[in-house]
Amino acid sequence: MEIDPNQDYLSKSEIRQLQNECFLSHLKYTYSHAKHYRDKLDKCGITLEDISSLDDLTKIPVTTKEEIETNNLDFQAVSPRSVVEYVTTSGTLGNPISIALTLEDQKRLTWNEKRSLNMCGITADDVIQITTTLDKRFMAGIAYYLGATALGAAVIRSGIGDPDFQLDNIRRFQPTVLIAVPSFAYKFGNYLLSKGIDPKSTSIRKIVCIGEPIKDTSFAPNTLNQKLMEIWDVQLYSTYASTEMATAFTECEAGQGGHLLPELVHVELLDDQNQPVADGEVGEVTVTPFGIEGMPLLRYKTGDLARLHTETCSCGRNTSRLGPVEGRKGQMIKWKGTTLFPQQIENVLNHISEIDNYIIELSLDDLGLDLLKVILPDHLERNVLDQAQRLLQQSLRVNPILEQNTAAYIASEILPKGSRKPRRFVDKRQLAN
Ligand SMILES: [Zn+2]
Repeated sequence: MEIDPNQDYLSKSEIRQLQNECFLSHLKYTYSHAKHYRDKLDKCGITLEDISSLDDLTKIPVTTKEEIETNNLDFQAVSPRSVVEYVTTSGTLGNPISIALTLEDQKRLTWNEKRSLNMCGITADDVIQITTTLDKRFMAGIAYYLGATALGAAVIRSGIGDPDFQLDNIRRFQPTVLIAVPSFAYKFGNYLLSKGIDPKSTSIRKIVCIGEPIKDTSFAPNTLNQKLMEIWDVQLYSTYASTEMATAFTECEAGQGGHLLPELVHVELLDDQNQPVADGEVGEVTVTPFGIEGMPLLRYKTGDLARLHTETCSCGRNTSRLGPVEGRKGQMIKWKGTTLFPQQIENVLNHISEIDNYIIELSLDDLGLDLLKVILPDHLERNVLDQAQRLLQQSLRVNPILEQNTAAYIASEILPKGSRKPRRFVDKRQLAN
């Protein structure tokens, strides 16, 4: 399917109308095919007649990750014969969820990513180096691949890590775009510098950043972003997605939050009581992705906390934009009276250029209270640790315990064996229970 350039510039009422139609057919499909939702709506006494538009969406109870984890099979809405692929979530917080994709789901995923890459101005003239996992049951990697090829761009499946191999691909194929976790793109840039190669002199002109925010809440570049821009001559684009919703929110050239794709997803920002938060306030990203056959969802609470921007973007699109993820619901840390998220600590540590690697570890102390540690490589001098302590105190008013360990230990904690997504934050609280 070709992208209709007008589709992105619908008026707000046209967007609402489009979403209404998509929602009603999605609801009908979900009720008649997914046992979990049929039972749930029946139990609440909700019939399809009670829901005549998106305005009635709030009558439907929300869906939590735990609900899917415990009833995973009942969420599947198709027979095994219609399944063309099985993927799982990463399971960063709990058990991975299994998701069956039909051929239509795969086409939808292709369309989603084609639209998303198009939002970043990527065309058939681009060569895209995908530096994420393309196997390990990972949906996003294959989505980038499918979307990029559907767009007519050329793809290099570099896979995760291995800077030598990444460099070999750059030399051979002159890619114009990197799809990368931003902290990896930074590390890779430094690796190039160490080899006497200026990243600015390479063919790379865009980096599509996944998995980590590159903006602060007012869309100003965060530290990681600033560091990337110092070494690369690129435009950075942020994209937000999750396996469960199989839909991406991607920044346009204006970089003012990820645009919603109206034919693919509806989004609400909810508080702990599942009520909508006020405009511009932080809430839990709650999605109803449209048109999914294998595991359709209604009002799925992602656990990600962000803000929604509804005013027209300077690019002219009227679709809502999702701001950077400000934290994960399950990752909130209560440390000596202060509430914070690992992301805030990362932003501070990224300021200190001597700190090339670290891991934030949260466990429980003898009294069952949160115990916050930052583990830094043992080659760092005492004065760097002092500087980190001082900055964390000044910016966040927290004094985590700073410990040192080998670079090998930290690397193994960041990317444990068999894992496909690097992490900076390890929550050991559940293990202690
Ligand atoms: Zn825009």
